[in-house]
Amino acid sequence: MFKFLQQVGDYAKETVQAAKYIGQGLSVTFDHMQRRPITVQYPYEKLIPSERYRGRIHFEFDKCISCEVCVRVCPINLPVVDWEFNRETKKKKLNHYSIDFGVCIFCGNCVEYCPTNCLSMTEEYELAAYDRHELNYDNVALGRLPYKVTQDPMVTPLREFAYLPKGVMSSHDLPPNSQRAGKRPEEIVEESEASTKQS
Ligand code: SF4
Ligand code: SF4
Repeated sequence: MFKFLQQVGDYAKETVQAAKYIGQGLSVTFDHMQRRPITVQYPYEKLIPSERYRGRIHFEFDKCISCEVCVRVCPINLPVVDWEFNRETKKKKLNHYSIDFGVCIFCGNCVEYCPTNCLSMTEEYELAAYDRHELNYDNVALGRLPYKVTQDPMVTPLREFAYLPKGVMSSHDLPPNSQRAGKRPEEIVEESEASTKQS
């Protein structure tokens, strides 16, 4: 009889413990039911990359002087500058230019040191391909205008958490004209130009 009562007591204790754990789990669930969703519904929603994001490189063929500085400053000597010497004009003539994004580490050295600013980093980050050789971009592919999240009518652009106005914790349902946190790059440039003129 005593053993039976002990078993009933143990069973009741385990039932109470289990109910306590279920209650703890559900409290987290109910807590999240009151919060706004922070999930980005990719590919219908996309985050706007930050201004200094280092995405796919853009190349302007006509500006390139075939100096090969980009090759020398690249940690893996990646850009391929195919040029020939034009005896009539006594200048280098660029034939082809390519960068393999399957190997590039997006360090931005080539962009930083190019003397004619014909290279620039874009905010394009969707470079997935089935064949890695497709990531070897020639001058035509590099010259393609960069993809912008904000210009795609099929996509709802969302601000990154760092750019949300003070007190706002979710990009969803943000009023379109709401002031973003921090200054825009052009505002910083304007301020620095104004301070240079004053000094
Ligand atoms: S971003 Fe860096 S790794 Fe890529 S090509 Fe330029 S210098 Fe080379
Ligand atoms: S550094 Fe600029 S100008 Fe010189 S070869 Fe590279 S892309 Fe062309």
